[in-house]
Amino acid sequence: MRVLAISDVIVKALYSPAVREIARDADFVVSCGDLPSAYLEYIVSMLDVPLYYVMGNHGGRGGAREFPEGCVNLDGRVVAHNGLLLAGLEGSIRYNDAPRYQYTENEMRRKALSLELKLWLNRLRYGRYLDIFVTHAPPFGIHDEGDAAHQGFRTFLKLIDRYHPDYMLHGHVHVYDNRIVRQSVRGHTLIVNAYGYSLIELVKG
Ligand SMILES: [Zn+2]
Repeated sequence: MRVLAISDVIVKALYSPAVREIARDADFVVSCGDLPSAYLEYIVSMLDVPLYYVMGNHGGRGGAREFPEGCVNLDGRVVAHNGLLLAGLEGSIRYNDAPRYQYTENEMRRKALSLELKLWLNRLRYGRYLDIFVTHAPPFGIHDEGDAAHQGFRTFLKLIDRYHPDYMLHGHVHVYDNRIVRQSVRGHTLIVNAYGYSLIELVKG
């Protein structure tokens, strides 16, 4: 299976009919946040495959509709797609007084707790917790940055170490330079910064 992961910036080629060519083999789309609803709706209508998303700290980026239509919000939820188990957590670390979609580490831990219950139900039902973990922010110490706004969550590290998703897809950290690391491995998990876009061939671990 193949996933088109998008995040943070509009890629012009994806906002044109060329998206059909670029993402022709994509079975579904994952948005890691900070993208306008209209962009997500365009892509979902052109590709005619499901689009799963989490909100970034900037929400729907000031577009006319905060939540994209015809797309599935993954925040705090688990979703099964063709036998793949997806789960997500939105937002970034809190760094200013506009706390919508911003969470302290403690707040994120609480959000994660209720998600973990659902992961345990997955385990009972499907024999494993999850396959793809979708977030906006990175995990602490992986692809994150030193400034207040771009620090990752320690909570995410714990989730990776406890539940071993095959993939974690995140955004939030902008990649202006090709030398910046976009993929890292931690234990069993391939962590991908989806900034712009990334086509990922999913290999079941
Ligand atoms: Zn962000």
